[in-house]
Amino acid sequence: MGLTFGLSVLIAQFVAQRPSRMPTPEASYLARHGKRCLARVPDPDIVASPAFGPWWQRLGEQDCTPGSWLSQFREFGQTFGQYQAEGPNQPEEDAPLLLTALGEFRVRGEEGRALLEPLREFLEIYYQRPVSLGPPGAMPALAWSSDRGATGQYDAEAVLESLRGGCPQGTGGCLSVTDEDLYVNTLQYVFGLGHFHRRVGVFSMYRLWEPIVDPYTGDRRAPEEVETLRRALKVAVHEMGHEFTVAHCVHYRGCVMAGTNSLAESDEGSLMLCPLDHAKLHWNLRFDDRKRFGELAEFANRHGLHPEARYWAAMADAMPRLPNASGGPL
Ligand SMILES: [Zn+2]
Ligand SMILES: [Zn+2]
Repeated sequence: MGLTFGLSVLIAQFVAQRPSRMPTPEASYLARHGKRCLARVPDPDIVASPAFGPWWQRLGEQDCTPGSWLSQFREFGQTFGQYQAEGPNQPEEDAPLLLTALGEFRVRGEEGRALLEPLREFLEIYYQRPVSLGPPGAMPALAWSSDRGATGQYDAEAVLESLRGGCPQGTGGCLSVTDEDLYVNTLQYVFGLGHFHRRVGVFSMYRLWEPIVDPYTGDRRAPEEVETLRRALKVAVHEMGHEFTVAHCVHYRGCVMAGTNSLAESDEGSLMLCPLDHAKLHWNLRFDDRKRFGELAEFANRHGLHPEARYWAAMADAMPRLPNASGGPL
C-alpha cells in the first residue's frame, strides 16, 4: 500500500559517538531469529558530494534493535533509480505547498497553534517552495473513536481519506496538522501519514510534549521548547517527504525519512536528509543546495537548534555556488 507510518530520526556524528545501546549478540532481533532485517536493501545508486561523508554512516543490522521500526516492519529501501521509476509527485517549478490546521486544538490549544508558523517557515525552507497556511479544516467525525487512547483517537487512514482530492490543483503538496491523537488499526498510535501520490498528508502534535526518555538510564524529563519544536519539524518534514514519494529510508543511520516506532526512536533520529534522500529531492524539486543549507542553518540558529545549525552551516560552506546565484564571486 502506498501509505507509510510514523516519523522519524541526530546527526550521524552523534550517532557515531553514542555508545551502542545493546551488546552485540543482542543487536538484532531479526538476526537472532535467523533473518537479516536489511538483507534485501540495495546499495545507494548515487555519487554523493564528499561533504556528506563525515556526517553519515550506512545503517547496519545492529540498528535493528528490539522494539525498533526495523525489527517490526520489513523495509526494502528505495534507490534513486527506483524513486525516478516510481513516477514521483513532481510539482511544477513554482507550485506552492499548503499547511492546514485541522480541528479545534482542544488538546494543546495555543501551545499547539504557536507551532504552526515555525512549521510553515521550516517547510518553506526545507522544500524550497512557498508554503501558505490554509483556512482551518474540521476533523472528520466518522474517524473518531472515543474508546481508544487516553482522550479518544482519530483513525489516521480515515482522516487521510477525507482529505483525498482536497489539495488544490497546482499545489505541490498539502499537509494537515492536528493536536488530536491518531492511530491506524495495527498500531496504537501514529505520528502521521503521508500519501505517496495524492499530495495529502496528516500529522499529529499530540505526543510532542511527552517526556524525553534517556535511552541508557531510562530517566524521564519534560522536553524543552526547542525539543518539542524539533519533534514537530521532524514529523512535518517526514510526512511531506512521503508526499514527494520518498519511501522510508533504510540506507543511512538517522535519516529523517526513516520509519520510527516510538517517540524515543524518533528522538534518536535527526532532522536531516541522508545523501540519497537529499539527491531524490534535489532532483525532484531542483533546489539550490547552497542556498537551502544556508537558510536551514539560519533558521536553526534562530530557534536554538544548535547541532542542526552546525551541520547545515558546514554543508552550505561545502556546496558549490551556482553560476547564476547572487551574492559573491564564483
Ligand atoms: Zn513514514
Ligand atoms: Zn535517507
